[in-house]
Amino acid sequence: MIDQWSNISQHILLAPVCVLCGDRGDAGLDLCRACRLDLPVIKVACERCAIPLPVAHHRGRHCGHCQTEPPAFEHCLAPFAYHAPLDHLLQDLKFNRRLALARTLGRLMARWLEDPTDGLPDRILPVPLHPARLRERGFNQSLELAHPISQRLKLPLDTHSCRRLRNTPPQAELSARQRHSNLKGAFAVEKKLGGRIAIIDDVMTTGSTVQELARTLRDAGATQIDIWVCARAGRI
Ligand SMILES: [Zn+2]
Ligand SMILES: [Zn+2]
Repeated sequence: MIDQWSNISQHILLAPVCVLCGDRGDAGLDLCRACRLDLPVIKVACERCAIPLPVAHHRGRHCGHCQTEPPAFEHCLAPFAYHAPLDHLLQDLKFNRRLALARTLGRLMARWLEDPTDGLPDRILPVPLHPARLRERGFNQSLELAHPISQRLKLPLDTHSCRRLRNTPPQAELSARQRHSNLKGAFAVEKKLGGRIAIIDDVMTTGSTVQELARTLRDAGATQIDIWVCARAGRI
């Protein structure tokens, strides 16, 4: 009898619950079906940098910025726009240590990324945090998102090739020019790299962080860099 009760209570405790509305989770996720279908999926985006474009925009186009100044990476893929509730969820993950959110969002990313038209990378590399920032926060949100992606897509997770040398101030407080110099030399790779690498990050705003990391990885010998982010900020 006790066993039976503990089985039942365990089932109730472990049953996924929607992180947004508290209803029962669906498809093994901590999100109910209604809230999942309501997430701000990007419908049309720049093929290169994933910035959301107006729906009337032709598919397969590059945004004006990528046409004049192509980025150091091949493609950025982002399932969601950085709008409510994604912005709240990602901030909650980062600043309130709600690591369960990374599991849910990482799984959603993995499902979305499962069948890319131009194949999968050889490995994935979460944007490294500076050791001081890591101590202060206690975890790296990009690594937490990368775990479920690595598991589902069976891709090696690279946490050793690259280090963050400088603890850069938050990019949002800086101008475009300051951002660039703020990040120059922020990452270091000590060995020769090869193959195709996807960089994992939580959100891409101006893209200057992943740009600098992509440049560093390319200089170290990586043949192709893709960017996989949970949410893309920018105009629509
Ligand atoms: Zn819900
Ligand atoms: Zn673009």
